[in-house]
Amino acid sequence: MLFGALEAGGTKMVLAIGDENGEILEQTSIPTVSPEETIPEIIAWFKDKNIEALGIAAFGPIDLNRDSETYGSFTTTPKLKWADYNIVKAFRDALGVPVGFDTDVNGSLLGEVTYGQAKGLTDAVYITIGTGVGAGVMSNGKLVHGMLHPELGHIKLVPHPDDSYKGHCPYHGNCLEGMAAGPAIEERYGKKAIELKDDEKVWDIEAYYIAQALSNIILMMSPQIIILGGGVMHQTQLFPLIRKKTAEMLNGYIKTKQMENLDHYIVPASLNDNQGIMGCIKLAIDEKTLEG
Ligand code: ADP
Ligand code: ZN
Repeated sequence: MLFGALEAGGTKMVLAIGDENGEILEQTSIPTVSPEETIPEIIAWFKDKNIEALGIAAFGPIDLNRDSETYGSFTTTPKLKWADYNIVKAFRDALGVPVGFDTDVNGSLLGEVTYGQAKGLTDAVYITIGTGVGAGVMSNGKLVHGMLHPELGHIKLVPHPDDSYKGHCPYHGNCLEGMAAGPAIEERYGKKAIELKDDEKVWDIEAYYIAQALSNIILMMSPQIIILGGGVMHQTQLFPLIRKKTAEMLNGYIKTKQMENLDHYIVPASLNDNQGIMGCIKLAIDEKTLEG
């Protein structure tokens, strides 16, 4: 059986065909321009591929409420050309197959939980730190949507004592995304994040913010693993710093086997950057099962 996968990102769309084991058989990508230009191209690619269902993981915010009239749409996205566009309906109408739908970060998390290092776990968090900060959450074996979907990238943080930067988020200033996403690093220091790789202070402050967020997440939802992805996490020196600071902030309060060795608890993504697209295959499989 063949399934379609679409990872809808703000800069590019990744398209793939996979089988029921999550194996990717064919893959391509095209730039994200506008619905009018981009969607027909994607439809044309999937049209003769004989897929049983399609899974879409998209940038947001998006409407995931199946009872809502606008289920399947982008909502208040700053990518204005896509605001209110119903991507699920577009593909259902054009391809006539079930279409599974979730956030990009829930997609990556689902990939890790189904095919990657978090296989078998029921409670997990996937955080991407890139152009923005987003988090996918699984609780009791289910991807969390709730009222909308979690927006952990925007939780408020205590500023680092040596950091006077006001923050990059247009809504909250110094939230996690405002202080720790790529554009925040670049505005704060006036340089590309990658050019700052040897500046220890930069990564110490970065790790301080990420560790605060992780401590709060651990206290709030008690995940069995936390996976960190996105462009900024290519600075792998962050991992030991984040683990150390998270442990310091929790100060011994949470005593579990996972907390004894954070090397296996706070980890990089495990599927060679395919976690998102593999998660889309699983979204397609699940939707096919649901709709029969
Ligand atoms: P997106 O979030 O748009 O999907 P990425 O996850 O690649 O894409 O994030 C892009 C951001 O990550 C940019 O702001 C850039 O500064 C930062 N970034 C990309 N590569 C690196 C790197 N090797 N080291 C540090 N920061 C990086
Ligand atoms: Zn914010």
